Amino acid sequence: MRASHLYAPTLRETPAEAEVVSHQLMLRAGMIRKAAGGIYTYLPLAWKILKKIENIIREEMDAKGGQELLMPIVQPAELWTETGRWDVYGDEMFRLKDRHGRDFCLGPTHEEIITTVAKTDVRSYRQLPLMLYQIQNKYRDEIRPRFGLMRGREFIMKDLYSFDRNEEALHDSYMKMYDAYGKVFERCGLICRPVEADSGAIGGSGSHEFMVIAESGEAAIVYCSECDYAANVEKAELLPLEAVEEASKQLSAVNTPAVKTIAEVSAYLNIDPERMIKTVAYQTEKDIVLALVRGDHEVNEVKVKNELNCLVLELASEQTVKDIGSYIGFIGPVGLKNVTIIADNTVMRLVNAVCGANKQDQHLLNVNPNRDFTVAKTADIRLIQENDPCPRCGQAVKMARGIEVGHIFKLRTKYSTALAATFLDENGKEKPMVMGCYGIGVTRTMAASIEQNYDKDGIIWPVPIAPYHAVIVPISIKDEAQMKFAEEVYQALNKAGIETVFDDRNERPGVKFKDADLIGYPLKITVGPKVVNEGVIEVKSRRTGEVRHINIENYVEEIGAFLKKV
Ligand SMILES: [Zn+2]
Repeated sequence: MRASHLYAPTLRETPAEAEVVSHQLMLRAGMIRKAAGGIYTYLPLAWKILKKIENIIREEMDAKGGQELLMPIVQPAELWTETGRWDVYGDEMFRLKDRHGRDFCLGPTHEEIITTVAKTDVRSYRQLPLMLYQIQNKYRDEIRPRFGLMRGREFIMKDLYSFDRNEEALHDSYMKMYDAYGKVFERCGLICRPVEADSGAIGGSGSHEFMVIAESGEAAIVYCSECDYAANVEKAELLPLEAVEEASKQLSAVNTPAVKTIAEVSAYLNIDPERMIKTVAYQTEKDIVLALVRGDHEVNEVKVKNELNCLVLELASEQTVKDIGSYIGFIGPVGLKNVTIIADNTVMRLVNAVCGANKQDQHLLNVNPNRDFTVAKTADIRLIQENDPCPRCGQAVKMARGIEVGHIFKLRTKYSTALAATFLDENGKEKPMVMGCYGIGVTRTMAASIEQNYDKDGIIWPVPIAPYHAVIVPISIKDEAQMKFAEEVYQALNKAGIETVFDDRNERPGVKFKDADLIGYPLKITVGPKVVNEGVIEVKSRRTGEVRHINIENYVEEIGAFLKKV
């Protein structure tokens, strides 16, 4: 590709709308342009990168027995009604009507369609296992699309669905994908960590997220440096902490005028937050919920939702708190009726704790769970914190940030049951197919790889997904000998499979070097007077800055060898 021909309009200034590095650099490097909030055109450089990522994914999916197909973007509402998701999906779903007034959506995911496909044609256990996948646009009407390709409304995903005859066979398919995902991200040149994404039985997790480790990551993860445990913070399991050994004392009230927060109460009463009960009131679609955690902990709303099996969990309004007979800042579990109380395991082990008295300006002392209040449910509902014990080995956990680029999930029979996708087993018995789904955000992987690989000058593409491997910069385009030689190198490298751009633009070398760094070609080849006079080409690695002076005798091999080391 000649740079004079390449459509990669670079920008000198960082566009104000771009909040994260990947968004800024993709705009500046002439890779993407915005059409609407969260909806982008991928210009030629980005499209080339996306195709490389897609091909790596294809090869790894095919290697595990996956078969590619393509499903429709426009999906009929009836299928979504059958699985109950037409209503559940809410405003995130792009909905439309056809000329006859029939409801459709732009697919946010494809479980309904693929299950219907399998249902139509799979009859016998002999047709299983089956793995079908596509690489396709997906649509989610995010309330706040942001961070460029990180949280778009239209994005490219690979989604694979597995169909198996039983739980063991599903586990085999799941582990194949777990393995394939590790390979995909490694081949893309990314540092990626699989984390457990649900709090299921120890060792038997039914879901993993694949996280590209990056400071700017939206997801907080915990990991153990002693064992290989790693989990999304929202999903991390927690061991109950040590209980206090102390005889219970008599419940009493204490005046705490205008002292409301945990920190204020702790200071005012001179009591550690870990001896206090933090009570958070929520409104669900069913009832009012009080979630209790220790004063030094935070409520994990994902876990509360799962434990209570509710769809909505919003902080209760001041009025709602009044209606149940309490006051913001002085709420507690003792004596409140018509509420569902769920407590963290750690709360139930407290002795002589402090909590709000449900009276203005009052707290209670010597509160003892079970004696002074009862709960509907005790569960693990707090957020893990740095230095909490690892649920596997007990060592203190560490925190990191990551960008979720992949997610694998055991669906089991959720969709096959809802859509009656059954098969006949060896004994002629009809059974629902056991399913798994496995996604990779393709556009997000491109953005995440920039978040992990950049410096002040621009992007540093890992070689396997770089749009081109090298760029040739002649120092003077007026110098015929230089241009002739640069042309020769250009032809020879491309012929050898080293994808090379020839920067033949009528620009100063400084401009070309800046663009080369911004776009992030792994190798920069300078063709100057040295080549003509001494027979030496200068090649520089974008990542390490290493410069090699390569003799023109066998430069194609030498450059190929250099490319393997950058
Ligand atoms: Zn551990």
